[in-house]
Amino acid sequence: MAKDTMKAAVLVGAKQIEIKEVPVPTVRPGDIEIKVTACGVCGSDIHMWKAGQGWGKNMQDFIMGHEFCGVVTNPNGSKFKEGDRVTFWANLYCGECDMCRAGLEHLCRDVNGTNYIGFVCNGAYAERFAGKAKNAYLLPDSVSDVAAGCIDPLMVAYHAVRKAGIKLGDKVLVVGNGIIGNMIGELAKKSGASYVALSKLNDYKLAPTKKAGYFDAYFDAASEEFPQETQEASKGGFDIAFEAVGAESAMQNCISAIKPGGTIVMIGNSITPTIPVNINRAVLQEFRLLGSVSCTEEEFRGTIDLIANGIIDPEAYVTDIIGLDDLQHTLERIVSPTDSILKAVVKP
Ligand SMILES: [Zn+2]
Ligand SMILES: [Zn+2]
Repeated sequence: MAKDTMKAAVLVGAKQIEIKEVPVPTVRPGDIEIKVTACGVCGSDIHMWKAGQGWGKNMQDFIMGHEFCGVVTNPNGSKFKEGDRVTFWANLYCGECDMCRAGLEHLCRDVNGTNYIGFVCNGAYAERFAGKAKNAYLLPDSVSDVAAGCIDPLMVAYHAVRKAGIKLGDKVLVVGNGIIGNMIGELAKKSGASYVALSKLNDYKLAPTKKAGYFDAYFDAASEEFPQETQEASKGGFDIAFEAVGAESAMQNCISAIKPGGTIVMIGNSITPTIPVNINRAVLQEFRLLGSVSCTEEEFRGTIDLIANGIIDPEAYVTDIIGLDDLQHTLERIVSPTDSILKAVVKP
């Protein structure tokens, strides 16, 4: 008989993860159960970790983890069979509202940026996970477990780059050197950008960025002026700028760098509800401000294909592969401004 308890990393209080033996999740109608093989650690886990609870009601003693894959242990009458490798899309979209019916599941009226697995219900920092078969996708053999643990940031980068509508020869600025900024830089280059510059917060995380080699220039976000080389390369301003921080200075960086008529894509979630910036420049210079969040269901499938077809290898940005026992320490490292961690993936 299968074990009826499992090891899980439980959020028990503010900045407190405890490894516990907990009941395996209940498999409800429409659910499948998997043995979790990898789960990416995300910046959005930090918010819940700091608060000591998830986004739903009574979310104490809760299991985070929304970027994951595993092997099906109970197909429960779904299209999957035991042993299939699957990844879950964490987006708990309704499938019925006007947005969902228009193929804009990421804008589902029920989602609002928080209705995700591992946000409002238990996620996958555990040995087992059970969730809707509808949210599960078969993984090709060419997508490793660790790569599947990076589908979440990659889908965000992919959606943002598609929204930007990059054309051959475009000059592109990426503000923010987290994993999403890195992946945007790589996809922008591969979409035909001739020059991609990175405005970085510091140098601590730059080793994988430099090794990957998709940026033509790096400079400090804090510096007022762009370096001479970048000023020359982007003569007259950048065609497209990606704001991947969510802060006033980063937004200001984009506004001062963009050429008239250019496009700024905003991906960063700002900590403060408002950001004071020189918005009248958007009027006078007709640049476009585009918000970008998550991706559509079609793009989620497209993200798996990007990895399967070798267009991008997200493992290049994974700096740490850890066990559940190391999750607490890893979250502490992520909030440290001087740590070199870029992306961690848990292998429970
Ligand atoms: Zn995430
Ligand atoms: Zn919906």
